[in-house]
Amino acid sequence: MDLPADTTETDRELLSTARDRIPSRCRERRAADRGDELFALVRADDETGSGDAYLGVPFEPPDAPSAGFCAERHALNRLQLAEPPGTRPTHVVVAGPVPDDDRRPTFPCGTCRDAIAAVGGPDVTVLATCFVRQPDGWALFPTVERRRVEELVPDRWTDPWG
Ligand SMILES: [Zn+2]
Repeated sequence: MDLPADTTETDRELLSTARDRIPSRCRERRAADRGDELFALVRADDETGSGDAYLGVPFEPPDAPSAGFCAERHALNRLQLAEPPGTRPTHVVVAGPVPDDDRRPTFPCGTCRDAIAAVGGPDVTVLATCFVRQPDGWALFPTVERRRVEELVPDRWTDPWG
């Protein structure tokens, strides 16, 4: 795993938790002859939260695509349900399945970037990574990019008329 220079101990812990949790879900899907899906893991590691990690997967109801939503928002909602009101996420891991010849990290979509920023503020750490299905398992997190959500939604807090 190739980690950015500014990776913190909390980042490492959350990535380790993701490494522990993702393969079991992948094995279940492989056994059911299904493809891999994107995962998100969210944690509130400041005074507002417990530090527990919440896993999210995409909600993709068959024949009702407009009713679906992404793994990141699933994980954010699980955190908000489990933790006291006012808990803010501080860290989000996004791990997308990618083909072997494209190991670029997967970043949240625009709606999820906005959702992360809306509930967590500009300082949420986003750890973008990926995983690759292989004959005997998965290559987890060959690359990791680290961003503050403010870098992903740069003008969210700026008054465009001001
Ligand atoms: Zn999304």
